Order: sequence, then structure tokens, then C-alpha cells
Amino acid sequence: MPRPALRTRSRKRVYKALPGGKTTIHYKSEIPAPAKCRICNKPLSGFSRLNPSEISKLNKSRRRVSRIYGGSLCSECLKKGLKEAVRVSSSS
Ligand SMILES: [Zn+2]
Repeated sequence: MPRPALRTRSRKRVYKALPGGKTTIHYKSEIPAPAKCRICNKPLSGFSRLNPSEISKLNKSRRRVSRIYGGSLCSECLKKGLKEAVRVSSSS
């Protein structure tokens, strides 16, 4: 039985073959929680859910959505916010 911190399915298990012929389990670090929209709290889509060390190996388009507020707001909330901003600025 693995130690308590490793008894979770959030950690990926990697089976490693040892030189003596046995196999052991190596545990990768936990997968982080998905990034969420700051307004509606929906999980953001369009980029990988990886650890920071693995994210740094990806290219720029796989790290965030190339839209303003791409990594922090979902598309619907951004659309609503922009419409609201135009309405407020045009009414005054
Ligand atoms: Zn949202």
C-alpha cells in the first residue's frame, strides 16, 4: 500500500522496470486544478492542464487563448463585459 499522500488518483502512476527484473511504481506530481473564469467560475478551455515545469516546455499558443483576458475570463463573460463597457461609455 502506498503512503497516504500517494493514495490519490490525481497523481499519475508510472511503472518502471528495474535492472533486476522487478517493476516499481513511480508517482508523478499532482495535476493542478483547472484555471477558472474570474466572473462565472467556469473552467477555462483551450489550454493544457499541466504543472508549471511542463507548461514552460509548451509553445505560446498552447499556454493561453490569444484573446484579450485570454487566461482569466471566458469568452461569454468577455463579450458581456465589452458590450457593457460600450453601453456605459456611449450613454455618458
Ligand atoms: Zn465567465
